[in-house]
Amino acid sequence: MSFELLTSEQLIEIDKQFIWHPYTQFGSPGQIFSVKSAEGVRIKLTDNRELIDGISSWWSCVHGYNHPVLNQAVKSQLDNMAHVMFAGLTHGPAVKLAKKLVDITPAGLNKVFFSDSGSVAVEVAMKMALQYWISSKQPQRCKFLTIKQGYHGDTLSTMSLCDPHSGMHHLFHQSLQHQFFAESPNSGFDEGLNETNFDHFAQMLKRNKQNIAAVILEPIVQGAGGMKFYSPAYLKAVRELCDEYELLLIADEIATGFGRTGKLFACEHARISPDIMCLGKALSGGYITLAATLCNDKVSDGINQGAANIFMHGPTYMANPLACAVANASIDLLLSEDWQSKVKSIEQQLKQELLPCKNMPGVKDVRVLGAIGVIEMEEKINTQSLLPKIIEKGVWLRPFGNIIYLTPPFIISNEDLSILTKSLCEIVSEISFTRSKSFVI
Ligand code: PMP
Repeated sequence: MSFELLTSEQLIEIDKQFIWHPYTQFGSPGQIFSVKSAEGVRIKLTDNRELIDGISSWWSCVHGYNHPVLNQAVKSQLDNMAHVMFAGLTHGPAVKLAKKLVDITPAGLNKVFFSDSGSVAVEVAMKMALQYWISSKQPQRCKFLTIKQGYHGDTLSTMSLCDPHSGMHHLFHQSLQHQFFAESPNSGFDEGLNETNFDHFAQMLKRNKQNIAAVILEPIVQGAGGMKFYSPAYLKAVRELCDEYELLLIADEIATGFGRTGKLFACEHARISPDIMCLGKALSGGYITLAATLCNDKVSDGINQGAANIFMHGPTYMANPLACAVANASIDLLLSEDWQSKVKSIEQQLKQELLPCKNMPGVKDVRVLGAIGVIEMEEKINTQSLLPKIIEKGVWLRPFGNIIYLTPPFIISNEDLSILTKSLCEIVSEISFTRSKSFVI
């Protein structure tokens, strides 16, 4: 069978027989669309329809698709080697990338551990923190303190960082390690610290400090847990408290890293440096799965001085040369441009075109930070019933829970961004209309 000649319907039919899609039931993945190619901000379907991508393939594809510079980086690397194992061997793309990451991330983060996905980068971060305390002969420090409404991945340990009662992984809570959960920050990005709210975190940390290996959080933006933006003052206060009690701080910058929030890394909003930082998603410009966990001297020295002075982790595809090469090209491309102005201009346009939705019935909140625009509805959105309308408008959006959001590629034009915001506003007004009709009925 020549799969290249199959129609969209045929491909989807075969897909349904064999493939499990993210967060779906096997055999009934809801509506899926077959993609032929992608270029710039446009995803081209097998049936020749074109969609403007509003979410950069889950925050990753910041330069758009099929970028000539990124393509060339992969092609050139491919002619050298696609992969070699990383135990006992090293290569230029990994060394160059590690040096670059150390140079651009907050001060002190100068050790790099490569892995293959965001979830694994968080697992590695957790393991670093655990091994740090094992090495310091305090193995009872084996729990993590985090904030509610966070999200750090889908693997077992990262699932344990999701609220065990209301989080997306609550189904598994009996099988997961029990962590400590503080109330999530309730002061917005432009607000100061709400002392009462922070006190919940502070008390939890003080009460349990002897058992905590590290505090872990998504800096400034809580993504999959509800797209909440919070005050840099909260993050700063967390850093100060961790310092006071000599606890490690892990910043999960997998979604926020590489400019998305208007700073290269969201920690910069609070002018703090974590002890451990996780990177992924936009690290490789949306080309090839790659993640990195960075740490400072304190963590690496601590682990090195332990009885088991080796760090016990080593993925097969660690520091894959193709992924490292395209990550180098993606970061160079980002830094060679005035990305701050681009993100600022996306932010301004998102504010101008989305904030008017605030007054629509059914809308709870509209918020914008950097190249992230969020409309939070009062009620849960039926994504499946909305998908045909989204596709009809020639855009690609993926609402979840009660959230519809935009995280477009940074290269998007004003005109294309307007199509996205207009579509979003229309969808919100359609939801409001359906809701008001159902009230009448
Ligand atoms: N941490 C955060 C903050 C994320 O947003 C994600 C991905 N949504 C992850 C971790 C997990 O990354 P991955 O999907 O690459 O495993």
